[in-house]
Amino acid sequence: MHAELIDGVAVSKKIRDEVAARCAALAARGVVPGLTVVLVGDDAASAVYVRNKEKQSVEAGMKGETIRLPASTSQEELLAVVDRLNADPAVHGILVQMPLPKQIDPQTVIRRLAPHKDVDGFHPVNVGKVLIGEKDGFAPCTPAGVQMLLQEYGVDTGGKHVVIIGRSNIVGKPMASLLIQPGKGGDATVTICHSRTPDLSWHTKRADIVIAAVGRPGTVTGDMLKPGAVVIDVGINRIADPTTKSGARLVGDVDFESARLTASKITPVPGGVGQMTIALLLRNTVRAAEQSIPAATVAG
Ligand code: NAD
Repeated sequence: MHAELIDGVAVSKKIRDEVAARCAALAARGVVPGLTVVLVGDDAASAVYVRNKEKQSVEAGMKGETIRLPASTSQEELLAVVDRLNADPAVHGILVQMPLPKQIDPQTVIRRLAPHKDVDGFHPVNVGKVLIGEKDGFAPCTPAGVQMLLQEYGVDTGGKHVVIIGRSNIVGKPMASLLIQPGKGGDATVTICHSRTPDLSWHTKRADIVIAAVGRPGTVTGDMLKPGAVVIDVGINRIADPTTKSGARLVGDVDFESARLTASKITPVPGGVGQMTIALLLRNTVRAAEQSIPAATVAG
């Protein structure tokens, strides 16, 4: 069997088109969705992500802005920037790019964000809303992107056994929150595996859907899968490859070549989940802008 490829490039384009249409509808009512990304320090990977976020938000018709602060920025200075953005009605979504320099506690910063502008979905209010199924909360973009890929490819999660590998607050845990909700895209039976799980393959072999978010290449191989399983690879790992121009290439957490022989559907890396994260960020931002309009105005 050769698995069908789940094309994150195509699905993310569809979402960005939908977001652009919603931005145009808001613009007609005089509202331009504003997304502000705050980047502290000069981490090279973060700088690339932030540039892409700004570029794609502008392309969708938003006011995309990046505030760049030096690595020496104190926590108080960063919190003052967050306070200013919280109070600015032209800013609908705020994202503080992680990781932050050592002198700043990320949880303190996340808690300072106004929950209705926390389009990354990491504020405890949004974490809680997603867990209890309140639709006006913001789900973190990567797990929301995975859920959307499954839906777009007709993978019904209802009654299926999903094994998530990884228990981080940004991927593993919110992924479980989304998949256990009643209704479309949910209704799954979820197992979360992590670094202390003995015999990972005992679990993965019983999974209809495997979602890997570990950060270690080759964590899932074809012999660990049930035939016909759907495999979602969230991992992004840079490995040395002297055959490429840059001397490195990106791989996921799944051994793609062996897994594709057993799986029925699989995401490639790159070109799978990674493409979805920014698209879902834009979607959260346009919804934040829509939710900022008083109900009477929307009805009118
Ligand atoms: P993390 O380091 O916070 O968490 C990794 C998780 O893997 C931990 O919960 C740990 O318990 C688990 N783990 C480690 N070794 C394991 C093992 N041997 N068996 C089972 N579980 C094990 O990482 P994260 O932030 O959740 O990211 C995971 C991966 O996803 C990384 O490669 C990251 O780059 C990638 N990622 C991609 C996107 C995207 O946009 N596609 C977004 C976020 C993260």
